[in-house]
Amino acid sequence: MDVLHRPMVFRGGLVLDATEYLGAMDILVHDGMIVAIGAPGMPVPDGAAIIDASRRLVHPGLVNAHTHGHGNLARSMGDRWTLELLLAAAPHMSPYLSAEEKRVSATIGAAEMLLKGCTACYDLFVEFPLPTEEGIAAVADAYAQAGMRAAIAPMMADMTVYEAIPGLMDVLPSHLKTAVAPLGLPPWQETIERMHAILHNWQGDRTKVRPAVAPTIPLHCRDEFMVACRDLADEFDVGIHTHLAESKVQAVAGTLRYGSSLTAHIERLGLLGPRFVAAHGVWLDADDMRRLGANGASIAHNPASNMRLGCGVADAVGMLAAGVNLAIGTDAATCNDNLNMYQALHFAAAASHARGPDPTAWITAPQVFAAGTIGSARALGFERIGRIAPGYAADLVCLDLDAPTLIPLNEPVTQMVMGEDGTSVVDVMVAGRFVVRERRLLTVDLPALAARASALRAEIDARSVASRRRFDAVAPIIGDFCPALARTEWHINRWCGC
Ligand SMILES: [Zn+2]
Repeated sequence: MDVLHRPMVFRGGLVLDATEYLGAMDILVHDGMIVAIGAPGMPVPDGAAIIDASRRLVHPGLVNAHTHGHGNLARSMGDRWTLELLLAAAPHMSPYLSAEEKRVSATIGAAEMLLKGCTACYDLFVEFPLPTEEGIAAVADAYAQAGMRAAIAPMMADMTVYEAIPGLMDVLPSHLKTAVAPLGLPPWQETIERMHAILHNWQGDRTKVRPAVAPTIPLHCRDEFMVACRDLADEFDVGIHTHLAESKVQAVAGTLRYGSSLTAHIERLGLLGPRFVAAHGVWLDADDMRRLGANGASIAHNPASNMRLGCGVADAVGMLAAGVNLAIGTDAATCNDNLNMYQALHFAAAASHARGPDPTAWITAPQVFAAGTIGSARALGFERIGRIAPGYAADLVCLDLDAPTLIPLNEPVTQMVMGEDGTSVVDVMVAGRFVVRERRLLTVDLPALAARASALRAEIDARSVASRRRFDAVAPIIGDFCPALARTEWHINRWCGC
């Protein structure tokens, strides 16, 4: 019998489901799915392969609700920078990439995530100036080859950061205005046409890799563009994902541009709904959260990135109270700087604690763990992942109970959220297939990947010299202008007449 189609039973592992610690259980897997769980020694079909899990803690694969595959080739290229500086650096860090560069960059992320217990992700990758069949196929193939599930969405925009932030272009001296002009993006209709064709022609197995639509930041997309993205997502029954109120600069700029909060504005455009995922939501008020919750939307909470870029600390507890589906992500390797979901869970807890001294107002470890499994799964649009239960996919992670971070095992959920760092991961299975076995990644040749990635990085740097110089020239201006904009809320109040 084909090994993939042979039943397999994990015997006697300690099982931590998304919302509950179940203690010692057997897990029967068949055809990529969990078909039964039961007391140790439960009867299983003849010929079932036996996996001894007696020194293992088994949890559902973690789900990364927000990352950027292209960012892996640009890992850690900046130190003290804000979101706006990062966006301005994109043309030299991740310029128009070849299909191979997209594939290699996504593969680096997939390899890291799988080795660190994460079995699915939402990837918003660079496809500027226009989305291409070739590019999206390369990214889809990277995940398929690595054996990881993904929702993949080329980022789309019709305005650059210079056009999106009110007043920024005005403060650039004329030679820099001229220097940033070529960065202008094609008319949105062209982008929508391309994306429509890509979704129309999509052949892939949507249970493994599914497409989605990503108008990257509302301020960077004209309203008609946002509405067209909404219609695309509806027509093809796919997710829609945008960066929402990530930095205070965006929140202020949104009020200046729309005369309301960003969230109120996109609700007016009809974007909010169960297929909608907002990354970040650091600068949301109670009304914004209520709008998102009432519409069944998700927030991909990326606390490590938010702190790294000086964006602030999102109110995850407020989001949960408003009925928002809370998901957790790492964000990109350019602003985190790893794709370690265990670390993202820890940051989510610690960030909540850092908001104030009242422990009853903090997110709990079980809430964080649920957000990083079933919450994120819902955000990705995969209905049968994120749990260890019959009828769910066999996306499982086995941790070594003899690893120091789990000795002794006192409080499994708290240890998972606060202490685990990925060093306990022994085996990782996706859809009933081992992709990590005995701590070794089976699907990617890491030394070959490292060699190719270094070579590609050098090629990208060589062709980005002028872009880098331009960034060096504009960076001090952005570095002055944006924090000042974030400080001038009085201006908005006056503009609003409040
Ligand atoms: Zn992002």
